[in-house]
Amino acid sequence: DLASFPSNLRYEDLVITRSKSLQVKPRLDASTLKFGAVYTDHMLQASWKDGLGWSAPSIDPLGSISLHPCAQVLHYGVECFEGMKVYKGKDGQLRLFRPEMNMDRLARSAARLTLPQFDKLELLECIKELVRVERDWVPDEEGFSVYIRPTMIGTHPFLGVSPTREAMLYVILSPVGPYFPSGLKPIKLYVETENVRAFPGGVGDNKIGGNYATTILPQLRASHMGCSQVLYVLQDGMSEGGLVGESGSMNMFFLIRQEGEDGELELVTPPLDGLILPGVTRDTVIKLAQGFRDIKVSERPLHFDEVERASETGRLLEVFGTGTACMIQPVMSLTKKDHTEIKIPFNADAAKYWLAKPPGTGFTLNSFMEEPFSLCGRLSRSLLDVQYGHVDSEWSVVI
Ligand code: PMP
Repeated sequence: DLASFPSNLRYEDLVITRSKSLQVKPRLDASTLKFGAVYTDHMLQASWKDGLGWSAPSIDPLGSISLHPCAQVLHYGVECFEGMKVYKGKDGQLRLFRPEMNMDRLARSAARLTLPQFDKLELLECIKELVRVERDWVPDEEGFSVYIRPTMIGTHPFLGVSPTREAMLYVILSPVGPYFPSGLKPIKLYVETENVRAFPGGVGDNKIGGNYATTILPQLRASHMGCSQVLYVLQDGMSEGGLVGESGSMNMFFLIRQEGEDGELELVTPPLDGLILPGVTRDTVIKLAQGFRDIKVSERPLHFDEVERASETGRLLEVFGTGTACMIQPVMSLTKKDHTEIKIPFNADAAKYWLAKPPGTGFTLNSFMEEPFSLCGRLSRSLLDVQYGHVDSEWSVVI
């Protein structure tokens, strides 16, 4: 009974111990600052025990954690996590982007694994404090940010497969550079029809470690095919091509011109049917695109046959993935098992046009038809405008 888990994690109990030896901060260089390879000086942590609830949370110098060799996480993958970012604007303000969505998702993932519940606002306050302690790590250059990785693990030393009785929550920070060092550079995806990441009744809509462990090998195979990521297409027996899901760590969007003389522009993304992760960026892109005239946004099942048919008839206009790490990632081709490729047009100049526009202009025009056409370019500009505080938005949470 999840309701009976104590959720007494409190910001007012937070204890801060500052590190006496701070690292030299790395240079801001998009080509050398590798995603997830550098960590800041401190971490946030708290432990939980059945019947006792949460310990006082603390911010401590980043260090190793000690676990009993029988800890549940080491045997049964009792682990869930989140991915969010803090951005610093030219005004020096630190901003989180829709962080309550990450807190909600973490609570859902934890519940699925019988990991403890927590007060989401209290945890968010603790994370904000960690960010304040590390504020000098946050670059103020557009495209750079600090990635925030909240993590929860089952630490109970017990080899039986059973509900969690002891757990640990910790949050680490990592400065990251832009995913696109040279603007919006499109990638190739491998159409994965054999390995499955999620299935009906499974846990593909939770952010739990086990979902990712099994994607590393398919990802490696994709890279041998010259592709940067996998596009999961589930053989659901309803169509020859299968049901389009998502990519390794991105939700997917397809801009398709519908058939007919004046076929409308439809931005299609798979629905939240349990088979994909409910991405924060996905939800944001849907809401942004709904505000653009000329575009119809549909969350609906998309069969690969439809993507192929649209491509054959020149109606597949753009494909892009979305995620906190990559933001908006254009796709240039979909490679199938037989090595044939579905090519997707990419208007690099139009995308660059949008990225090069003065900050704050992503939202100013309602119609596309007056400017170079790049939906992913325009969405990127609009997202950056919110994240770096160029426009006021209820999605921004100033720390
Ligand atoms: N799908 C998967 C499988 C992911 O791991 C992620 C990254 N969290 C996403 C989509 C994108 O989600 P978000 O926009 O919340 O980062």
